[in-house]
Amino acid sequence: MINANLHTDRPTFVTHLECSLTGETYAADQLHGLSAAGRPLLVRYDLPAAGAALSRDALEARPTDLWRWRELLPVRRTASIVSLGEIETPLVPIPRSGGAQVLVKDEGRLPTGSFKARGLVMAVAMARELDVARIAMPTNGNAGAALAAYASRCGIEAIVLAPEETPEINVREIAAQGARVWRVNGQIDDCGAIVARGAAEGRWFDFSTLKEPYRIEGKKTMGLELAAQFGWELPDAIFYPTGGGTGLIGMWKAFDELEALGWIGPKRPRMYAVQASGCAPIVRAFEAGEEHAERWEDAATVAAGIRVPRAVGDFLILRAVRASGGRALAVGDPAILAAVDAAARKDGLLLCPEGGATLAAYHQAVKDGFVDPDERTVLFNCATGLKYPMPEAPQWLDRHGEIDLSRL
Ligand SMILES: *Cc1c(COP(=O)(O)O)cnc(C)c1O
Repeated sequence: MINANLHTDRPTFVTHLECSLTGETYAADQLHGLSAAGRPLLVRYDLPAAGAALSRDALEARPTDLWRWRELLPVRRTASIVSLGEIETPLVPIPRSGGAQVLVKDEGRLPTGSFKARGLVMAVAMARELDVARIAMPTNGNAGAALAAYASRCGIEAIVLAPEETPEINVREIAAQGARVWRVNGQIDDCGAIVARGAAEGRWFDFSTLKEPYRIEGKKTMGLELAAQFGWELPDAIFYPTGGGTGLIGMWKAFDELEALGWIGPKRPRMYAVQASGCAPIVRAFEAGEEHAERWEDAATVAAGIRVPRAVGDFLILRAVRASGGRALAVGDPAILAAVDAAARKDGLLLCPEGGATLAAYHQAVKDGFVDPDERTVLFNCATGLKYPMPEAPQWLDRHGEIDLSRL
């Protein structure tokens, strides 16, 4: 049994959906993609009613998994929930490679080994609730794996398109978990265009990042968890590896909802959107003072999860970063790989390259005076490092020969 919360129907408090650009409202309990303005839809709740139904003390008495937040999530029917054990992820100190005040939120412990599980568990549950039979999605790897797992588990068909440079292990895990996966000679937005074409023909439902409203709600639980883990006072700075930006947008939304409930005060962390210098459209827009980001041509980085040339929620990322007093920062692949190496060797924590990017950006931000080493800082490691290529370890011993034990 995963969580007793799952076995009782609880009221949910969704009132409607809202266009993130225009504020236009849409009915809950219906299938929606983007708004009429072509922008992400945000789920809105009756927060006073949710607060009356669930106190902070009652929340704290529940098991600590993702479903403890049920009153702040969109799923209405318990029978819609499809779970693989979405635990609360730990905050791991990395004093030697990071600093005394640096904690890594290690999302690699989630089902399918990445935080894409948070978004997809919610989106698939809602697809199930709204009777979707077939889903298609572009992915750089981890999202497709999470979709495959949850869709297979509840009998929804999944078609996944991955850019040619997607790590082989991701393509294989998607296939192994029962989705139909195809490599495409292009970037993730090229894959997305094919998915959109099929969706327009009514072949499947389009699950691209932020093109359906519920992945944000799943990713929002990172912000809810952080608040609870920090004793209802948020950290000073958050470094988030930013591709589509779902998690950054979701956490920012979570903080507002928690403040509306009266569970936290107005203090917010400074949000640092971290990108790779080989694909940094949000950083370029941030530095130019733009509200939207132009597509990044010839995107290339070892950090596949943040190789996203164009984000449909660009303005939401930029608004949150600016409102928080944070920044968008780019780091190069050599710095990313050096950070992965340092965290593993000095602190025993194997980061994914995207997680390494946040550590590299943190050091750069300290050097540039944006962050003080005394400030409480959270870095997001969004997938297990075990899914990524590691440096060779080629040494052999011949057990029949002479072995100089002093050299081992
Ligand atoms: C998807 C992904 C990201 C980027 O997440 P977004 O919320 O889409 O910006 C970062 N790291 C890893 C490992 C990912 O899989």
